[in-house]
Amino acid sequence: MLSRRQWLTRAGAAVLAAGAAGRGSASGLTSSKLARAGASGVTESAEAGAPPEAPLALKDFQPKSMLHVPVTNVPRARFPVIDIHTHLSFSASSKNGVALGEKMRYSATPDQVLPAMDRRNLRMMVDLTGGVGQGLEETIRRFQTPHPDRFSVFTEPWWERSDQPGYSQFQADELQRAHQAGARGLKVLKTLGLYLREQVTTGPLVKVDDPRFDAMWEACGALRMPVAIHTSDPEAFFLPIDRFNERYEELNNHPDWSFHGRDFPSNAELLAARNRVVERHPHTQFIGLHVGGDAENLTFISECLDRYPNLHVDIAARIGELGRQPRTARRFFDKYQDRILFGTDAVPRGIETPQQVFGDQLYEIYFRFLESEDEYFDYAPAPTPPQGRWRIYGLGLPEGILHKVYFANAAQLLGINA
Ligand SMILES: [Zn+2]
Repeated sequence: MLSRRQWLTRAGAAVLAAGAAGRGSASGLTSSKLARAGASGVTESAEAGAPPEAPLALKDFQPKSMLHVPVTNVPRARFPVIDIHTHLSFSASSKNGVALGEKMRYSATPDQVLPAMDRRNLRMMVDLTGGVGQGLEETIRRFQTPHPDRFSVFTEPWWERSDQPGYSQFQADELQRAHQAGARGLKVLKTLGLYLREQVTTGPLVKVDDPRFDAMWEACGALRMPVAIHTSDPEAFFLPIDRFNERYEELNNHPDWSFHGRDFPSNAELLAARNRVVERHPHTQFIGLHVGGDAENLTFISECLDRYPNLHVDIAARIGELGRQPRTARRFFDKYQDRILFGTDAVPRGIETPQQVFGDQLYEIYFRFLESEDEYFDYAPAPTPPQGRWRIYGLGLPEGILHKVYFANAAQLLGINA
């Protein structure tokens, strides 16, 4: 956090920069000059009146809202919560975005996350990326076996075998084995559609509705294992990284998240293929992660939900999108209150994506968004909004909807009794 002094100094620099632009000053306002100005004891107005020297870099601009509006603290969710979208484990190796092998790495132990879960009224974390084969068994042994009411583990497809003959039946059989091992669902990363290729890591991209996976989708339905599927990404990730891109800073920080150009399909093509899968397997329950892959277009996602009763969505890592269209989002929650699931995409540790770092702060923001009618607050615990420079507005959901979104909808899909 910045001290008030540091902040005033930087705010002064911003004003100076605005003046500098007008007068064409070119020399740089160095950090040492800033530090001296801050320590020199000159009055704030004198600082603001100092001669401008350089424009403020966008990355250094951290404006503080001057709105005097209510701040609601929501340390505990109104009802027990199932977080349907977390990552406590990851495949240990991958190539060109495709997970390879059975070996897993773990970002936390149960003991490292249970205290925050208890403080925030988090009944269960669903670890979506539980892995395959022996890796899956290890993940289940670490989390779900000792705490079956606090952790659920999903399995994943064996991507690296997807180019082998007989894969379709092999993968369907693996689902059965994973189910017996304790896996409670299947997670499909955006790997499908954006990374997986005909020769696994090379060749043309494999389409989301490629028929080799049909037996897998069917097996999930037969075994009552919901499919949590991440398809596409924010719309801006498919556009040039230029001054018109609303997620310019995020893409600038993570250029590998861009799917513009090369041989990537459009987000519309990806979602159309996903929809064909959902349509072809009406007895399989699909959770379209990240608000069904297009949180920017709730009209489209509403059409998808209207068309496919076996489609559900989570809100993970998309309160920044939902919260900047609060009236549309509120109507969306009213209408689809039985098919929206609470999720965060939480990952213990890590600093790259503050909107996903597991902990008290993250959950407080989500609860505030869902429960309060607060205005214009940060969607992530970060000095700068990491997914785009805007702030969000709370939905103030009534208890009936909160209970469904926090718990009941996920409990039903996972076969958990209340
Ligand atoms: Zn995720």
